[in-house]
Amino acid sequence: MNQISPAAALAGLPITPRLPVVFVGHGSPMNAIIDTPYSRGWQMLGQSLPRPRAILCVSAHWTSQGGTLVDIAARPPTIHDFGGFPQRLYEQIYPASGAPDYARAAIGLVRSTRLEADRNWGFDHGSWGVLLRMYPHADVPMFQMSLDLGKAPQAHFRLAQELRPLRERGLLIVASGNLIHNLHAMDQSGKAQPWAVEFDARAAAYIRARDIARLVQLGTQGPLAQMANPTPEHFLPVLYALGAGDPQDELTFFNEGIEWGAISMRSFVLA
Ligand code: ZN
Repeated sequence: MNQISPAAALAGLPITPRLPVVFVGHGSPMNAIIDTPYSRGWQMLGQSLPRPRAILCVSAHWTSQGGTLVDIAARPPTIHDFGGFPQRLYEQIYPASGAPDYARAAIGLVRSTRLEADRNWGFDHGSWGVLLRMYPHADVPMFQMSLDLGKAPQAHFRLAQELRPLRERGLLIVASGNLIHNLHAMDQSGKAQPWAVEFDARAAAYIRARDIARLVQLGTQGPLAQMANPTPEHFLPVLYALGAGDPQDELTFFNEGIEWGAISMRSFVLA
């Protein structure tokens, strides 16, 4: 475990007004390059937030087993981690630089688990697909942290709580997933399925109440959880946003909607 003090971990980073925390439902990779209500929501979000010094993105698309990895690369590559989309999507490059100073600060701050420095990832579509819209000039350094699928949900929340001080050092935390993500239950008619409407409404209520225990239960246990998220990686990022959020933060939902009947795009800002 960590030997350095939190103060030492933060040394060298500027003290700033506290930055918000964001949870983004990212949905289809196509939102990166076509104009949709969701991509417009990300654009407006980028324009309305105070300007960060750096961004940490916890994306559903970087998972690990048995350890949390933190990308400390200076120039992370853009990863096109999807198949069967138009060529134009594969040509997108998000040239933001990495943020090794912030990445190392995160590694130094967290005590509840060991964070490991890593250089083998980059920006996956859960991060660049959204950030391309939020900060189209790619002029804010960014790093990613993996989702360790070996951790219990509460451990993700605890880890994120330990990242809170970085919000007062200019870091914007963006957790990118989807509250509901069942690709097998998608319906081309676009009509939201009743179980999805129920799950989305209950998740919203628990998020509003900051009721982490009920949210975790809803998202990970029982038949409704299984229907909403047959695998947990798109749901878990919400625990990073809530953990890094302060109970005093004001919550604002945006981009509410259920795509293809089974993908919740509901997103929120804590500020
Ligand atoms: Zn995804």
